[in-house]
Amino acid sequence: MKVSDNLAKIKTQIQEAAIRAGRNPDDIKVIAVTKYVSNERAEEAVEAGILDLGENRDEGLNGKYERIGDRAVWHFIGTMQTRKVKSVIDKVDYIHSLDRESLAKEIDRRASRKVNCFVQVNVSGEESKHGLEPDEVIPFIKSLSGYENIRICGLMTMAPFTEDKDVLRSCFRKLAEYQKYVQALKLPYAPCTELSMGMSNDFEIAIEEGATMIRIGTALVGKE
Ligand SMILES: *Cc1c(COP(=O)(O)O)cnc(C)c1O
Repeated sequence: MKVSDNLAKIKTQIQEAAIRAGRNPDDIKVIAVTKYVSNERAEEAVEAGILDLGENRDEGLNGKYERIGDRAVWHFIGTMQTRKVKSVIDKVDYIHSLDRESLAKEIDRRASRKVNCFVQVNVSGEESKHGLEPDEVIPFIKSLSGYENIRICGLMTMAPFTEDKDVLRSCFRKLAEYQKYVQALKLPYAPCTELSMGMSNDFEIAIEEGATMIRIGTALVGKE
C-alpha cells in the first residue's frame, strides 16, 4: 500500500473520531513511526505530506535524518538510553520518553536549545511498560525546575496490549486526568498542553479521550 492511501484512510478515521468527541481534527497531529521501515519508505511518508517522523533508536533516527534532514520534525519515541542522548539531541524536536532525572540532566547538558519533552507514564501498571508510575509524575515534574533546556510539553503513554476498548479508554482517560494536574501547577517550564497517545490499533479511542499527537507505524507506513 502506498503511504498516501493509508494516510487518506487514517485521516478519515481521525476526522470521524474528532467529530464524535466534539474536537477539531486539526488539533491532532500524526507522527509517522518509521522504526520498522526503510529510509526510502520514510521519505515516501514525507512526500505524502507527513511532517513528523518518530524513531525509537538512535541508529534509525540518524540514518533517516541523513536522507530526510530538516524536511521533517523528528520525534524520539522509545526508551532513551542516557549515553545515546548526545548522538540525537541536535536532530530531535520532541522526546516522548522522559522518565528519570538522570535523563533530564543529560538532555539539559547536551542540548543547545529548549527541547520539548513528554513525561512517559505507565498508566496501565504493566511490568513491561516503561514510564513513571502515575503518582510519581507530579513530584518528578516539580524536580525539573532547574533544567533550562527542558520544556515539558505533555504526557505520553503506551496502552496495554489488549483489544478491550474499556481498558484502553480508561488508560487514555487517566493520562488526560494527570495532564490536568500538571497544568494546575502552572509551572512555566511545564505547560503540558499535549497528550501523546494512540497507536495503529487504538488511536481512535485516544483521540476521543484527548490525544493531540498520535504515533502510527504499522497502519501508516507498514511493518517492513
Ligand atoms: C512502535 C511504536 C509505535 C507505533 O506502533 P504501531 O502499532 O506500529 O502503530 C508508537 N509508539 C511507540 C512508543 C512505539 O514504540
